[in-house]
Amino acid sequence: MRSLTHLECSKCEAQHDPDELHSVCEKCGKPLLCRYDLEPLAKCTLREEVRARSGGMWRFRELLPVANDADIVTLGEGHTPLLRAERLGRAIGLGNLFVKDESAMPAGTFKARGMAVAVSRAVELGATKAAVASTGNAGGALATYGARAGMEVHIFMPRDTPETARLECETAGADVVLIDGLISDCAQALAARRDEEGWFDLSTLKEPYRLEGKKTMGYELAEHFDWELPDVIIYPTGGGTGLIGMWKAFEEMELIGWISGHRPRMISVQSTGCAPIVRAFKQGADEAERWQDPETVASGLRAPGTIGDFLILRAIRDSGGTAIAIPDDEILQALRQLAATEGILACPEGAATLAAAIRLREHGLLDADERVVLFNTGSGLKYPEVLRAALKA
Ligand SMILES: *Cc1c(COP(=O)(O)O)cnc(C)c1O
Repeated sequence: MRSLTHLECSKCEAQHDPDELHSVCEKCGKPLLCRYDLEPLAKCTLREEVRARSGGMWRFRELLPVANDADIVTLGEGHTPLLRAERLGRAIGLGNLFVKDESAMPAGTFKARGMAVAVSRAVELGATKAAVASTGNAGGALATYGARAGMEVHIFMPRDTPETARLECETAGADVVLIDGLISDCAQALAARRDEEGWFDLSTLKEPYRLEGKKTMGYELAEHFDWELPDVIIYPTGGGTGLIGMWKAFEEMELIGWISGHRPRMISVQSTGCAPIVRAFKQGADEAERWQDPETVASGLRAPGTIGDFLILRAIRDSGGTAIAIPDDEILQALRQLAATEGILACPEGAATLAAAIRLREHGLLDADERVVLFNTGSGLKYPEVLRAALKA
Protein backbone atom coordinates (compact mmCIF):
# COMPACT_ATOMS: atom_id res chain seq x y z
CA MET A 1 0.00 0.00 0.00
CA ARG A 2 1.37 3.38 -0.99
CA SER A 3 -0.07 6.62 0.28
CA LEU A 4 1.95 9.46 -1.30
CA THR A 5 -0.65 11.80 -2.83
CA HIS A 6 1.24 14.95 -3.82
CA LEU A 7 4.18 17.24 -3.19
CA GLU A 8 3.34 20.48 -1.40
CA CYS A 9 5.37 23.66 -1.17
CA SER A 10 6.41 24.37 2.42
CA LYS A 11 5.87 28.10 1.83
CA CYS A 12 3.13 28.81 -0.74
CA GLU A 13 1.43 25.38 -0.49
CA ALA A 14 1.33 24.95 -4.28
CA GLN A 15 0.80 21.30 -5.21
CA HIS A 16 3.07 19.32 -7.51
CA ASP A 17 2.71 15.95 -9.22
CA PRO A 18 4.13 13.19 -6.97
CA ASP A 19 5.01 10.95 -9.91
CA GLU A 20 7.39 13.43 -11.49
CA LEU A 21 10.90 14.06 -10.26
CA HIS A 22 10.78 17.47 -8.58
CA SER A 23 13.38 19.69 -6.99
CA VAL A 24 12.06 22.87 -5.32
CA CYS A 25 8.70 24.65 -5.74
CA GLU A 26 8.35 25.96 -9.28
CA LYS A 27 6.41 28.99 -8.03
CA CYS A 28 8.49 30.26 -5.12
CA GLY A 29 11.71 28.22 -5.01
CA LYS A 30 11.13 26.87 -1.48
CA PRO A 31 11.41 23.21 -0.37
CA LEU A 32 8.69 20.73 -1.31
CA LEU A 33 7.21 18.30 1.20
CA CYS A 34 5.79 14.83 0.53
CA ARG A 35 2.13 14.56 1.54
CA TYR A 36 0.32 11.28 2.11
CA ASP A 37 -3.20 9.97 2.40
CA LEU A 38 -2.93 9.19 6.10
CA GLU A 39 -6.52 8.28 6.87
CA PRO A 40 -6.43 4.64 5.75
CA LEU A 41 -3.26 4.15 7.82
CA ALA A 42 -5.11 5.29 10.94
CA LYS A 43 -7.71 2.57 10.62
CA CYS A 44 -5.39 -0.41 10.78
CA THR A 45 -3.07 -1.83 13.37
CA LEU A 46 -0.05 -0.67 11.39
CA ARG A 47 1.84 0.64 14.40
CA GLU A 48 2.34 -2.79 15.96
CA GLU A 49 2.77 -4.42 12.55
CA VAL A 50 5.67 -2.07 11.82
CA ARG A 51 7.31 -2.89 15.14
CA ALA A 52 7.31 -6.58 14.28
CA ARG A 53 8.85 -6.10 10.83
CA SER A 54 12.49 -6.29 9.83
CA GLY A 55 14.05 -3.98 7.25
CA GLY A 56 15.51 -1.05 9.23
CA MET A 57 13.88 2.27 8.47
CA TRP A 58 11.98 0.71 5.53
CA ARG A 59 9.66 -0.82 8.12
CA PHE A 60 7.88 2.53 7.78
CA ARG A 61 7.54 2.14 4.00
CA GLU A 62 3.85 3.16 3.87
CA LEU A 63 5.03 6.58 5.03
CA LEU A 64 7.86 6.88 2.51
CA PRO A 65 7.67 8.06 -1.11
CA VAL A 66 9.07 4.98 -2.90
CA ALA A 67 6.24 3.28 -4.79
CA ASN A 68 7.64 -0.21 -5.37
CA ASP A 69 9.61 -2.33 -2.92
CA ALA A 70 11.73 -3.58 -5.81
CA ASP A 71 13.04 -0.02 -6.31
CA ILE A 72 14.38 0.30 -2.75
CA VAL A 73 18.13 0.88 -2.72
CA THR A 74 19.32 -0.25 0.70
CA LEU A 75 22.46 -1.03 2.66
CA GLY A 76 20.59 -1.84 5.86
CA GLU A 77 20.11 1.73 7.14
CA GLY A 78 18.05 2.79 10.13
CA HIS A 79 16.69 1.10 13.26
CA THR A 80 19.67 2.42 15.21
CA PRO A 81 19.91 1.95 18.98
CA LEU A 82 18.60 4.31 21.63
CA LEU A 83 21.23 4.00 24.36
CA ARG A 84 20.61 4.90 27.97
CA ALA A 85 23.53 7.01 29.26
CA GLU A 86 23.29 6.52 33.00
CA ARG A 87 26.85 7.19 34.08
CA LEU A 88 27.11 10.27 31.90
CA GLY A 89 23.67 11.45 33.05
CA ARG A 90 24.75 11.18 36.68
CA ALA A 91 27.88 13.19 35.93
CA ILE A 92 25.93 16.07 34.37
CA GLY A 93 22.80 16.00 36.53
CA LEU A 94 20.31 14.34 34.17
CA GLY A 95 18.55 11.25 35.45
CA ASN A 96 16.99 10.21 32.14
CA LEU A 97 19.61 10.80 29.48
CA PHE A 98 19.60 8.88 26.18
CA VAL A 99 21.70 8.85 23.03
CA LYS A 100 20.12 7.98 19.68
CA ASP A 101 23.26 6.60 18.12
CA GLU A 102 23.52 6.84 14.33
CA SER A 103 27.22 5.93 14.24
CA ALA A 104 26.81 2.44 12.78
CA MET A 105 25.02 3.64 9.64
CA PRO A 106 26.28 2.92 6.10
CA ALA A 107 28.81 5.66 5.17
CA GLY A 108 29.15 6.38 8.90
CA THR A 109 26.43 9.00 9.39
CA PHE A 110 22.67 9.50 9.47
CA LYS A 111 22.93 11.06 5.98
CA ALA A 112 22.36 7.46 4.86
CA ARG A 113 18.69 7.67 5.81
CA GLY A 114 18.01 10.59 3.51
CA MET A 115 20.12 9.39 0.62
CA ALA A 116 18.68 5.87 0.70
CA VAL A 117 15.18 7.28 0.16
CA ALA A 118 16.21 10.02 -2.29
CA VAL A 119 18.32 7.73 -4.47
CA SER A 120 15.60 5.05 -4.46
CA ARG A 121 12.91 7.52 -5.50
CA ALA A 122 15.12 9.32 -8.04
CA VAL A 123 16.00 6.03 -9.76
CA GLU A 124 12.36 4.93 -9.61
CA LEU A 125 11.39 8.12 -11.44
CA GLY A 126 14.09 7.66 -14.06
CA ALA A 127 17.15 9.62 -12.90
CA THR A 128 20.51 8.17 -13.91
CA LYS A 129 22.88 10.97 -12.84
CA ALA A 130 23.02 12.66 -9.47
CA ALA A 131 24.93 15.54 -7.95
CA VAL A 132 25.23 17.15 -4.52
CA ALA A 133 26.91 20.11 -2.83
CA SER A 134 28.24 18.80 0.46
CA THR A 135 30.44 19.61 3.46
CA GLY A 136 31.41 15.93 3.43
CA ASN A 137 28.89 13.47 4.75
CA ALA A 138 26.03 14.04 2.30
CA GLY A 139 28.59 13.50 -0.45
CA GLY A 140 29.81 10.28 1.16
CA ALA A 141 26.27 8.99 1.49
CA LEU A 142 25.32 9.89 -2.09
CA ALA A 143 28.52 8.30 -3.45
CA THR A 144 27.68 5.17 -1.44
CA TYR A 145 24.02 4.84 -2.44
CA GLY A 146 24.73 6.01 -5.96
CA ALA A 147 27.25 3.18 -6.32
CA ARG A 148 24.71 0.73 -4.93
CA ALA A 149 22.14 1.96 -7.47
CA GLY A 150 24.54 2.11 -10.41
CA MET A 151 24.16 5.87 -10.79
CA GLU A 152 26.66 8.40 -12.05
CA VAL A 153 27.52 10.68 -9.11
CA HIS A 154 29.11 14.16 -8.95
CA ILE A 155 30.10 15.70 -5.63
CA PHE A 156 30.97 19.35 -5.10
CA MET A 157 32.84 19.95 -1.85
CA PRO A 158 34.93 22.74 -0.37
CA ARG A 159 38.65 22.11 -0.86
CA ASP A 160 39.21 22.22 2.91
CA THR A 161 36.73 19.38 3.62
CA PRO A 162 38.35 16.68 5.82
CA GLU A 163 40.29 14.29 3.57
CA THR A 164 38.44 11.16 4.74
CA ALA A 165 35.24 12.46 3.19
CA ARG A 166 36.86 13.01 -0.19
CA LEU A 167 38.58 9.62 -0.16
CA GLU A 168 35.31 7.93 0.72
CA CYS A 169 33.56 9.50 -2.28
CA GLU A 170 36.35 8.75 -4.73
CA THR A 171 36.67 5.16 -3.55
CA ALA A 172 32.97 4.68 -4.27
CA GLY A 173 33.61 5.86 -7.82
CA ALA A 174 32.13 9.34 -7.60
CA ASP A 175 33.50 12.32 -9.48
CA VAL A 176 34.64 14.82 -6.83
CA VAL A 177 34.91 18.51 -7.72
CA LEU A 178 36.86 20.50 -5.10
CA ILE A 179 35.85 24.16 -4.86
CA ASP A 180 37.86 26.99 -3.31
CA GLY A 181 35.08 28.34 -1.15
CA LEU A 182 32.12 27.40 1.02
CA ILE A 183 29.24 25.00 0.48
CA SER A 184 27.25 27.90 -0.99
CA ASP A 185 29.97 28.27 -3.66
CA CYS A 186 29.75 24.52 -4.27
CA ALA A 187 26.00 24.83 -4.78
CA GLN A 188 26.56 27.57 -7.36
CA ALA A 189 29.18 25.58 -9.25
CA LEU A 190 26.85 22.59 -9.30
CA ALA A 191 23.87 24.65 -10.48
CA ALA A 192 25.93 26.10 -13.34
CA ARG A 193 26.33 22.63 -14.88
CA ARG A 194 23.22 20.83 -13.61
CA ASP A 195 20.72 21.33 -16.41
CA GLU A 196 23.16 20.84 -19.25
CA GLU A 197 24.50 17.62 -17.69
CA GLY A 198 21.06 16.27 -16.73
CA TRP A 199 21.94 15.82 -13.07
CA PHE A 200 19.31 15.39 -10.36
CA ASP A 201 20.37 17.78 -7.58
CA LEU A 202 20.27 16.11 -4.15
CA SER A 203 21.63 19.08 -2.21
CA THR A 204 19.92 19.75 1.14
CA LEU A 205 16.19 20.50 0.71
CA LYS A 206 16.63 21.03 -3.05
CA GLU A 207 14.45 17.94 -3.43
CA PRO A 208 11.67 16.50 -1.22
CA TYR A 209 12.90 12.92 -0.63
CA ARG A 210 15.92 13.15 1.67
CA LEU A 211 13.74 14.75 4.32
CA GLU A 212 11.49 11.69 4.26
CA GLY A 213 14.41 9.42 5.08
CA LYS A 214 15.50 11.68 7.91
CA LYS A 215 12.01 11.79 9.38
CA THR A 216 12.25 8.08 10.19
CA MET A 217 14.40 9.13 13.17
CA GLY A 218 11.21 10.63 14.63
CA TYR A 219 9.25 7.44 14.00
CA GLU A 220 11.97 5.33 15.60
CA LEU A 221 12.11 7.59 18.66
CA ALA A 222 8.38 7.22 19.22
CA GLU A 223 8.75 3.47 18.89
CA HIS A 224 11.67 3.40 21.39
CA PHE A 225 9.58 5.28 23.95
CA ASP A 226 6.53 3.10 23.37
CA TRP A 227 4.66 5.78 21.39
CA GLU A 228 5.15 8.45 23.99
CA LEU A 229 7.72 11.02 22.92
CA PRO A 230 10.60 12.17 25.16
CA ASP A 231 10.60 15.64 26.74
CA VAL A 232 13.60 17.10 24.95
CA ILE A 233 15.51 16.38 21.73
CA ILE A 234 18.93 17.98 21.34
CA TYR A 235 19.94 17.97 17.71
CA PRO A 236 22.98 19.30 15.79
CA THR A 237 21.72 21.57 13.03
CA GLY A 238 23.34 22.27 9.68
CA GLY A 239 20.85 22.29 6.81
CA GLY A 240 18.16 21.24 9.26
CA THR A 241 16.69 18.20 7.48
CA GLY A 242 16.81 16.06 10.60
CA LEU A 243 15.05 18.59 12.80
CA ILE A 244 12.43 19.50 10.19
CA GLY A 245 12.01 15.81 9.32
CA MET A 246 11.39 14.72 12.91
CA TRP A 247 8.90 17.53 13.42
CA LYS A 248 7.06 16.35 10.29
CA ALA A 249 7.11 12.77 11.62
CA PHE A 250 5.46 13.90 14.87
CA GLU A 251 2.73 15.70 12.91
CA GLU A 252 2.08 12.62 10.76
CA MET A 253 2.02 10.29 13.75
CA GLU A 254 -0.52 12.53 15.49
CA LEU A 255 -2.70 12.53 12.37
CA ILE A 256 -2.69 8.74 12.13
CA GLY A 257 -3.20 8.36 15.84
CA TRP A 258 0.08 6.64 16.68
CA ILE A 259 0.93 9.25 19.29
CA SER A 260 -0.97 11.79 21.36
CA GLY A 261 0.08 14.08 24.14
CA HIS A 262 2.98 16.43 24.19
CA ARG A 263 5.73 16.81 21.63
CA PRO A 264 9.37 17.24 22.70
CA ARG A 265 11.09 20.61 22.98
CA MET A 266 13.41 20.75 19.99
CA ILE A 267 16.83 22.17 20.83
CA SER A 268 18.98 23.15 17.90
CA VAL A 269 22.75 23.08 18.44
CA GLN A 270 25.27 24.88 16.27
CA SER A 271 28.92 25.89 16.64
CA THR A 272 29.82 29.44 17.72
CA GLY A 273 31.86 29.46 14.50
CA CYS A 274 28.72 29.06 12.38
CA ALA A 275 25.44 29.79 14.13
CA PRO A 276 22.96 31.44 11.73
CA ILE A 277 19.94 29.65 13.23
CA VAL A 278 20.90 30.48 16.83
CA ARG A 279 21.35 34.13 15.90
CA ALA A 280 18.02 34.29 14.07
CA PHE A 281 16.25 32.53 16.94
CA LYS A 282 17.63 35.01 19.48
CA GLN A 283 16.62 37.93 17.26
CA GLY A 284 13.09 36.60 16.93
CA ALA A 285 13.51 36.45 13.14
CA ASP A 286 11.54 34.15 10.83
CA GLU A 287 14.48 33.61 8.51
CA ALA A 288 18.23 33.37 9.08
CA GLU A 289 20.81 35.69 7.59
CA ARG A 290 23.88 34.16 5.99
CA TRP A 291 26.82 33.59 8.38
CA GLN A 292 30.11 35.13 7.28
CA ASP A 293 33.33 33.07 7.42
CA PRO A 294 31.96 29.87 8.98
CA GLU A 295 34.61 27.89 10.82
CA THR A 296 34.22 24.82 13.04
CA VAL A 297 35.65 21.32 13.58
CA ALA A 298 32.07 20.05 13.20
CA SER A 299 32.12 20.16 9.41
CA GLY A 300 28.49 18.98 9.13
CA LEU A 301 27.47 22.20 10.89
CA ARG A 302 29.33 24.47 8.46
CA ALA A 303 26.16 25.56 6.71
CA PRO A 304 26.25 29.38 6.54
CA GLY A 305 22.79 29.63 5.00
CA THR A 306 20.01 27.15 4.35
CA ILE A 307 16.88 27.16 2.23
CA GLY A 308 14.94 25.52 5.09
CA ASP A 309 15.80 28.21 7.68
CA PHE A 310 12.16 29.27 8.19
CA LEU A 311 11.09 25.65 8.75
CA ILE A 312 13.82 25.05 11.35
CA LEU A 313 12.96 28.23 13.23
CA ARG A 314 9.25 27.45 13.14
CA ALA A 315 9.76 23.92 14.51
CA ILE A 316 11.98 25.15 17.35
CA ARG A 317 9.45 27.84 18.35
CA ASP A 318 6.34 25.68 17.96
CA SER A 319 7.98 23.10 20.21
CA GLY A 320 8.88 25.58 22.95
CA GLY A 321 12.53 24.74 22.36
CA THR A 322 15.60 26.87 21.96
CA ALA A 323 18.83 27.20 19.97
CA ILE A 324 22.34 27.26 21.41
CA ALA A 325 25.84 27.73 20.01
CA ILE A 326 28.82 25.81 21.41
CA PRO A 327 32.52 26.72 21.02
CA ASP A 328 34.76 24.12 19.41
CA ASP A 329 36.83 23.48 22.55
CA GLU A 330 33.66 22.40 24.40
CA ILE A 331 32.71 20.16 21.48
CA LEU A 332 36.10 18.45 21.71
CA GLN A 333 35.87 17.99 25.49
CA ALA A 334 32.36 16.57 25.15
CA LEU A 335 33.56 14.17 22.44
CA ARG A 336 36.15 12.76 24.83
CA GLN A 337 33.71 12.61 27.73
CA LEU A 338 31.09 10.73 25.70
CA ALA A 339 33.67 8.20 24.48
CA ALA A 340 35.36 7.73 27.87
CA THR A 341 32.15 7.65 29.95
CA GLU A 342 29.82 5.66 27.71
CA GLY A 343 31.94 4.12 24.95
CA ILE A 344 30.18 6.16 22.27
CA LEU A 345 32.72 7.53 19.79
CA ALA A 346 30.71 10.45 18.48
CA CYS A 347 31.25 12.69 15.51
CA PRO A 348 31.91 16.32 16.59
CA GLU A 349 28.38 17.30 15.54
CA GLY A 350 26.97 14.66 17.89
CA ALA A 351 29.38 15.65 20.66
CA ALA A 352 28.05 19.22 20.40
CA THR A 353 24.68 17.98 21.69
CA LEU A 354 26.32 16.75 24.91
CA ALA A 355 28.09 20.09 25.36
CA ALA A 356 24.70 21.77 24.86
CA ALA A 357 23.01 19.52 27.42
CA ILE A 358 25.70 20.38 29.99
CA ARG A 359 25.20 24.12 29.45
CA LEU A 360 21.41 23.95 29.42
CA ARG A 361 21.38 21.93 32.64
CA GLU A 362 23.72 24.46 34.27
CA HIS A 363 21.40 27.28 33.21
CA GLY A 364 18.34 25.48 34.57
CA LEU A 365 16.81 24.96 31.12
CA LEU A 366 16.67 21.17 31.57
CA ASP A 367 15.11 19.54 34.64
CA ALA A 368 16.95 16.71 36.38
CA ASP A 369 14.29 14.10 35.65
CA GLU A 370 13.31 15.05 32.11
CA ARG A 371 13.82 12.46 29.38
CA VAL A 372 16.50 14.04 27.22
CA VAL A 373 17.68 12.55 23.91
CA LEU A 374 21.01 13.54 22.40
CA PHE A 375 21.47 12.79 18.71
CA ASN A 376 24.83 11.37 17.74
CA THR A 377 24.54 11.79 14.01
CA GLY A 378 27.65 9.89 12.95
CA SER A 379 30.83 8.04 13.82
CA GLY A 380 33.92 9.75 15.22
CA LEU A 381 35.96 7.34 13.10
CA LYS A 382 35.28 9.57 10.08
CA TYR A 383 37.19 12.44 11.76
CA PRO A 384 40.75 11.33 12.65
CA GLU A 385 42.02 14.92 12.82
CA VAL A 386 39.23 15.86 15.22
CA LEU A 387 40.07 12.92 17.50
CA ARG A 388 43.67 14.10 17.53
CA ALA A 389 42.54 17.60 18.52
CA ALA A 390 40.16 16.20 21.17
CA LEU A 391 43.04 14.36 22.87
CA LYS A 392 44.86 17.68 23.20
CA ALA A 393 41.80 19.64 24.38
C1 LIG B 1 24.91 16.92 7.84
C2 LIG B 1 25.21 16.61 9.25
C3 LIG B 1 24.53 17.23 10.31
C4 LIG B 1 23.49 18.30 10.11
O1 LIG B 1 22.39 17.75 9.49
P1 LIG B 1 21.01 18.46 9.17
O2 LIG B 1 19.96 17.51 9.60
O3 LIG B 1 20.96 18.68 7.70
O4 LIG B 1 20.94 19.74 9.93
C5 LIG B 1 24.81 16.80 11.60
N1 LIG B 1 25.72 15.83 11.84
C6 LIG B 1 26.40 15.24 10.85
C7 LIG B 1 27.41 14.20 11.18
C8 LIG B 1 26.17 15.59 9.52
O5 LIG B 1 26.84 14.99 8.55
